[in-house]
Amino acid sequence: MSQGHFRAQWNREEFTHRAVRRFLSGGGLIQDPRVVRQRLKPNCFQIRRPTSDTRKMAWWTRKEPSVSTTSDEERRIKTEGLWQKCDGCGQIIWKKELDETGQVCPKCNYHFKLEAEERLTSLFDDGKFEFFDRDLHSTDPLDFVDSKPYKDRLRAMKKSTGNADAILAAAGNIKGRRVQVCALNLKFVGGSMGAVVGETIARAIDRCLEHRNPLVVVSASGGARMQEGAVSLMQMAKISAGLMKLDQAGLPYISVLTDPTTGGVTASFAMLGDLNIGEPGALIGFAGPRVIEQTIRQKLPEGFQRSEFLVKHGFLDAVVPRSEMRDYLSQAFDFFCGPVA
Ligand SMILES: [Zn+2]
Repeated sequence: MSQGHFRAQWNREEFTHRAVRRFLSGGGLIQDPRVVRQRLKPNCFQIRRPTSDTRKMAWWTRKEPSVSTTSDEERRIKTEGLWQKCDGCGQIIWKKELDETGQVCPKCNYHFKLEAEERLTSLFDDGKFEFFDRDLHSTDPLDFVDSKPYKDRLRAMKKSTGNADAILAAAGNIKGRRVQVCALNLKFVGGSMGAVVGETIARAIDRCLEHRNPLVVVSASGGARMQEGAVSLMQMAKISAGLMKLDQAGLPYISVLTDPTTGGVTASFAMLGDLNIGEPGALIGFAGPRVIEQTIRQKLPEGFQRSEFLVKHGFLDAVVPRSEMRDYLSQAFDFFCGPVA
């Protein structure tokens, strides 16, 4: 091995060694090997310690990022409400597109949940209607306390939803015919049925009887409200009695079941319609599938308790997509009451 060859070898090793040391100790970028080799020749064993200046320049010791970025909070505000992930197909959909389709996924026809007021707007002609009984509120008859007092829970719900309870009652025209509509709001204590929900529907029935209007109740509920105990269970009987009067007067009642309708609501007024219709894919049942599986110790079939399954097994009369709901209701009322005068 010639001396020249040895030197070249040695220099290369020294270069690698030094570059690694420089890199690890905060010296910054590895430079062009030829430049480094030139610089190393005179004092190749001397390893410079990084100065405070070189430390400042190293990328991992920088305090300020070199690229200015938007803060998470700012980014959230800028993009909030623009996109929505579909629970049906998992795709990201532009919210404006959802507004145009009535909150139905344009890709897989998944029906997003609607709040009570949105529901009323979607049903009535030109989205116009008048509210009734918006000031009814629960008196907390049991003075109930669970994880927090029921009174506090109601107050918080009222503040977050802007409604006094889980139901909105309204009257307006559907294709020119005056109809009384009640819509449940899932966001208010799970759309549960307490004294206010019962009383609001009972009063809507009274208005139907007085003005000879048909009735529509759009359900979205977890059932009876536990915090009102027996008082909430009594609403089942009260509404059922009212619906019987409606039947005797020859006025139609159409129950629209949306995702999810369960418990005491399914067990009373939601299944008592002259027509019981469901939105596509809505979960409708009394007890949830897990409870049933544990009770009967059998695996439930695919799609169990969904509207399509229930129509097939005779529990519902039809599955009506949201876009066809107004037409369907109007045709049903024409059938029950004759064409609009
Ligand atoms: Zn979808």
